[in-house]
Amino acid sequence: MRDGNARALRERAERVLPGGVDSPVRAYRAVPGVPPHIVRGEGAHVVDADGNEFIDFVLAYGPHILGHQPPEVLAAVRAQLECGIAYGHTVELEVELAERIVDAVASVDMVRFVTSGTEAAMSAIRLARAATGRDRIVKFAGGYHGHADALLAEAGSGIATLGIPGSPGVPAAAVEDTIVLPYNAPAAVAAVFEREGEQIAAVIVEPVAGNMGCVPPEAGFLDGLRDITSKWGAVLVFDEVMTGFRVAYGGAQSLYGVRPDLSLFGKVIGGGLPVGAYGGRRDLMEQIAPSGPVYQAGTLSGSPPAMAAGIAVLDVLRADASLYARMERLGQRLQKGFETAARRAAVACTVGRVGSMITPFLGIEEARSFDDVKHADRERFGRLHAAWLESGVLWPPSQFETAFLSTTHSDEDVDRTVESFARTLSSVSV
Ligand code: PMP
Repeated sequence: MRDGNARALRERAERVLPGGVDSPVRAYRAVPGVPPHIVRGEGAHVVDADGNEFIDFVLAYGPHILGHQPPEVLAAVRAQLECGIAYGHTVELEVELAERIVDAVASVDMVRFVTSGTEAAMSAIRLARAATGRDRIVKFAGGYHGHADALLAEAGSGIATLGIPGSPGVPAAAVEDTIVLPYNAPAAVAAVFEREGEQIAAVIVEPVAGNMGCVPPEAGFLDGLRDITSKWGAVLVFDEVMTGFRVAYGGAQSLYGVRPDLSLFGKVIGGGLPVGAYGGRRDLMEQIAPSGPVYQAGTLSGSPPAMAAGIAVLDVLRADASLYARMERLGQRLQKGFETAARRAAVACTVGRVGSMITPFLGIEEARSFDDVKHADRERFGRLHAAWLESGVLWPPSQFETAFLSTTHSDEDVDRTVESFARTLSSVSV
């Protein structure tokens, strides 16, 4: 792989951006090689400044469910740019996107737009604490909900990739009220509530975990969380920043038939522009300022071009149910390909997948929780990642980041990715 321009960019970037990046995982610290210097994307493919072309399974970490540069999204954003970028006043596009979310997601009566998933999570926790008059929150090991202080404890994503337990700069007091429990273990949640249920404001969960790699919820886990939180009067928060409008139009909650009190969105609903949102029960959302006392604000919240992009994405997805079926079929093909190749190469591997979210975990046979996936063979994953790059496959550079499919990936893209996986597994010694 040619990488002269990528190296040059990294060198320049490292002088002015910490680690050469604006978000840690982008630095490729957990895999060999240099991050490609990407200059263009179209559909499921991206091209870098060195002339390499890749099949893209990063998709900007989730937003590009329609692939890069979908014409409908470009047209909508361009039309808005002709009229202005931001006004500091409510625009019709905000109402339209909120209406689409409310229509799509049964548990959501009202929505507040913010500019990132981090803000959505932080704000939902504030709201849950205000509404219950309690301070403690429950999260799950390997779950990532952005980088707000209280939610960094034993987090997934970059925290897991870099192997740091939390972050310096987070005061002990900020995490004192955060209880971290294992994913897929409802009994542990019940036990904590038995002990201190009257102090717990909220349980926040990725209904399909994506930030420790893709780990699906087991039967009974999400239902169990619903039952326990209802019994104790705590707020159940589904972080659907990754899963919302991705694993199904109505999100993971429609797939698993569980109704949370609050939901977080991001990624897909902004079409690649900076958008987050939280929404849910009307009585809760009405406590947000200015209709209620819980303060939360943002200069660029509800950014008109971002709203236009989100509406365009949702309209494409809503108009054609076969798009989800297509992604499911491609996901199955990729999963089967990985499983067969690993078996043939006699390499331990388990594949976590829900729809278009997928992770092959190397070196382990079971991936139900962060404790399981921590034992994955990360060195081997690094070698696989490097081999993929070499053969034109761009995969998230960490065993702890789910990969994504889009509506624009083809069978050929999937087959090429599987072939490269098979070649690498059979050639790399265990
Ligand atoms: N929640 C989940 C489930 C996420 O995957 C992410 C980001 N990957 C976030 C929250 C944080 O979103 P952002 O990076 O936009 O702050």
